Amino acid sequence: MDLSCTEDEEDFRHRLRAWLAAVLPTLPPRPDPADWPGRRAYDCGWQRMLHDAGYAGLHWPEEAGGQGATPTQHLIFLEETERAGAPYVGANFVGLLHAGPTIAAEGTAAQRARWLPPILRGDEVWCQGFSEPEAGSDLAALRTRAVREGDTYVVSGSKIWTSHAEVADWCELLVRTAPVNQDTPKHRGISWLALPMDAPGVTVRPLRTLAGTAEFAEVFLDEVRVPVSHRVGAENDGWRVTMVTLSFERGTAFVGEVVACRRVLESLARTAKTNGRWDDPVLRRRLGRLAADCAALWRLTQWNVSEAQRTGGVPGVGGSVFKLRFSQVRQELYDAAAEVLGPDALDAEHEWVTGRLSSLSYTIAAGTTQIQRNIVAERILGLPKGR
Ligand SMILES: Cc1cc2nc3c(=O)[nH]c(=O)nc-3n(C[C@H](O)[C@H](O)[C@H](O)COP(=O)(O)OP(=O)(O)OC[C@H]3O[C@@H](n4cnc5c(N)ncnc54)[C@H](O)[C@@H]3O)c2cc1C
Repeated sequence: MDLSCTEDEEDFRHRLRAWLAAVLPTLPPRPDPADWPGRRAYDCGWQRMLHDAGYAGLHWPEEAGGQGATPTQHLIFLEETERAGAPYVGANFVGLLHAGPTIAAEGTAAQRARWLPPILRGDEVWCQGFSEPEAGSDLAALRTRAVREGDTYVVSGSKIWTSHAEVADWCELLVRTAPVNQDTPKHRGISWLALPMDAPGVTVRPLRTLAGTAEFAEVFLDEVRVPVSHRVGAENDGWRVTMVTLSFERGTAFVGEVVACRRVLESLARTAKTNGRWDDPVLRRRLGRLAADCAALWRLTQWNVSEAQRTGGVPGVGGSVFKLRFSQVRQELYDAAAEVLGPDALDAEHEWVTGRLSSLSYTIAAGTTQIQRNIVAERILGLPKGR
């Protein structure tokens, strides 16, 4: 892996830096975290600005409407936007980082033409309807069923922990299209559908998180009619398509947040130096270890992004190593933040306190740490299955 920048890549960095310096002062104030419609408008407005300036879908292939940028350009983009304090992907997380890439990789030409441009322009927001009660880690146990009636599926069931469901236009939905029996193991009877969230029979009930906001929701599906043409991949072959989605989600979706980890660590050290905590040798050692962890994570990120590109754009199972370490380092970082803050860690409004509360979810969302360890053990190290 060559980590040095070419002249073109350095030129890209300078153009991007100049563009950010010009446009960021023109942005409206950030909305309140609890104001989901406001957040959607803000995130989509930013996405539209990126689109119009030629920075949308930087890491997407050109045939999917992306920019076909090099892995290094992708990482430069993330570094520079973070350095400049630009908005993060927000409500467009699912569409840009895993539903869109899945459609680009697995969809038909008509599906790519219908769904990808509005994602890139920030016109349509997606959510992910995978988890169900009793079907989280054991995702193939899902029970939401889709019964085919001619060219329509009639979908009934429920989903849970659906992030951004309240403001989403579309949902990447997993449904059972074949009953489980001896001939059809549970992961063989699943299909991947694009569900319009405004279809009759869809009910969204928000759930409040530890951080106080309703980031995700329960979604109830009561005889919702979805055209068969909205199925991505073959009927009953949705598990394979799901693995593509999860490999994007675990392999590359959180890459931008690794850059944020490095920024948080730098500001922790700065704050410790000004509030006296830096005199504590145990804390200094802890921050030093975190600096080494962040550096290692950044190298892993570079490897992961360039490996995904080298192997045709879909990240491999190595994404589980990245997801495992990223979610752990992020939690350790915010634990250290609480120590640097001392009594101020009780201030619920402080950016690091909300960061700490949300960091707790990172070892669960997109597959728990235990599940990532199982994947690494079985599929990378070739160890025997635990059960
Ligand atoms: C902030 C957040 C956002 C989320 N957003 C979405 C979303 O948008 N869409 C969506 O579909 N889902 C979403 N999820 C759900 C998430 O994917 C699931 O919570 C996760 O997959 C775990 O499933 P579960 O909650 O059912 O836990 P369970 O599967 O019940 O697991 C409970 C515990 O048992 C452990 N465990 C289970 N099986 C094994 C095993 N075989 N070996 C070892 N340990 C095991 C798990 O690691 C975990 O510690 C989100 C979750 C969070 C926290």
